[in-house]
Order: sequence, then C-alpha cells, then structure tokens
Amino acid sequence: MNNDSLLSHRGEEPENGILYMVGTPIGNLNDISQRALNILKNVSLVACEDTRQTKKLMSRYQIKNHLISFNKDNSFKKIPKIIDYLKSGKSIAIVSDAGLPSICDPGEDLVTSAKFSGLNVICIPGPCAALTALVSSGMASSRFTFEGFLPKKAKERQKILLEISKSERTVVLYESPHRIKKLLKELKEYCGGEREIQIFRELTKKYEEHIGTNLDRMLDLIVDKEIIGEISIVIKGMEKKNDFEFSKIELKQELNELIDAGLSLSAASKYLAKKKNLNKGMIYNLF
Ligand code: SAM
Repeated sequence: MNNDSLLSHRGEEPENGILYMVGTPIGNLNDISQRALNILKNVSLVACEDTRQTKKLMSRYQIKNHLISFNKDNSFKKIPKIIDYLKSGKSIAIVSDAGLPSICDPGEDLVTSAKFSGLNVICIPGPCAALTALVSSGMASSRFTFEGFLPKKAKERQKILLEISKSERTVVLYESPHRIKKLLKELKEYCGGEREIQIFRELTKKYEEHIGTNLDRMLDLIVDKEIIGEISIVIKGMEKKNDFEFSKIELKQELNELIDAGLSLSAASKYLAKKKNLNKGMIYNLF
C-alpha cells in the first residue's frame, strides 16, 4: 500500500497484511466505534491482552473471531510470529484490556517491528483514560505531559517526581488504588501541599467520581478511605514563581543523593553549603 492508498484507507473492512491497533472501552462497553467493531469482526485474527476480557466485549456485540493472547509476558515470543502472519497477507487486530493498546499496555514494540518490516499499521482510535481525565479536569490541555505509572525504583521515581514538581505543564498519571496514598504523599513532598490535583476514579463507569482540590486537602480527604477502582490523576502545572522554592527542592534532591552515597547529613550539608555558597544550617534543615 503506498501513501496515496493509505490516505484513502477509510473503509470499514480490514485489508490484508495490515496491523490494526484497535481502541476499546475503558469501562463503558458502549464506548466503541462502529469501525472498531467491523475490524474486530473481519480481521483474520484478534490478538488481545487477556482473552477472557476481550471475549466479554466480543460477545456483547455478538462478534466471533479467533483470539490469541498477546501480553507483556509473551510479546517477545509472539512478535515475530505476528509479523510472519501479517507478511503472509493476513490482517491482525491488537486490543488491550482497556483503552488504546500501547498506552501503558502492550503494542509499542509490535508496531515498531511491523514498521521496520515494511508493514502498514492503522490505529482505530478509541477511549484513553489519560485523555478522558485530562479533558474532564479543565486544566491546561493543549500542552501536557503524560507520565503513565511512575517507576518503582527509588532513583528513577525521585527524578520523575522532581520533573513533575518543576513542570509548568499539566501532568497526567496512572496509579493503582492501593498505591495512591503513597503517591499523593510523595507528590506533596515534591510539589508542596498547595498544588492543585484532580483524581478521576472509574471514568465512564456507573460510579465515576471526580475529586479536585489541592494536595493537602486531598490527603486529608482520602487518609481514612479505602480507595477502589481504576484511577487517573491530573496535576496542575507549577505556576511560574519562586525560584527559591524550586532550588530548595533541587537542593534536597542533591542532599539525598549525597547521603545515599554514604555522607553524613552534617558532611553533606557542609559540602553543599560550600559548593553553593549557602548557609549550612538552612541546608541541614531541609532533610
Ligand atoms: N491503555 C489504557 C488507556 O488507553 O488508558 C491504559 C492501560 S493501564 C494498564 C491501566 C490504567 O489506566 C489504570 O491503572 C488506571 O490508572 C487507568 N485507567 C484505566 N481505565 C480507567 C478508568 N475507567 N478510570 C480511571 N482510570 C483508568
């Protein structure tokens, strides 16, 4: 397929040798396009994260098709097979459990491989929790940062938290309900209690809930609550201000790194005070 035919590709029926990345609902099963349903019905094969989950969607729309599993644990093995299958002229749809494949879900490596092999990839757009939360937040949305799930490793996590604290753009995050309190505490530590935040729970579902306030109040609100369901978080960008507050966060980060490297608090504070020509006591008290 050359570029001209790619541009004119707006048909409802799948074409041979094409990899379709199909968006599916993030909760409400009505949120699926007619085009997505036609593709799921008519491709040669549907590769899905969890066949049980996709079966629910397919049976809701009385679609029968061959399903195979394609998830983070088997994608390494499955990618070459899927590429061969596409090269043999068959079409495949990739779906994740919810939302757009590749967005914090398997898909990205497969698309890279397909493109590398000269195959065409078409995304059938659909819901995405991050964008649904962002639009619902009313926060600046023309330019924003999506961080997905924060890394678990302390160093990488601190680096991203620092970036979030300094970001003037709206930031969107995913988090699981049992880790949300820890994350909010960290966000408060890095961004300060005044930073505005909105939590979106169970978007598009029956018990959809939006909670918007600042980090101080958010922590008070949820401290004794059991949080369940799917959660997306939107954090307001930092108002441009106060370079000093800013450098305090960076100083604290440097202080932590020196202490992690084995210096005592006193030695690390002394070192930084000398390096930055600042008061040692002020730095010491940041810890
Ligand atoms: N591919 C999906 C997408 O396009 O949004 C995201 C998959 S990621 C593995 C799952 C995370 O997305 C959840 O842990 C949650 O943070 C967020 N999420 C998914 N569905 C949601 C919903 N209905 N409401 C709020 N957040 C949701």
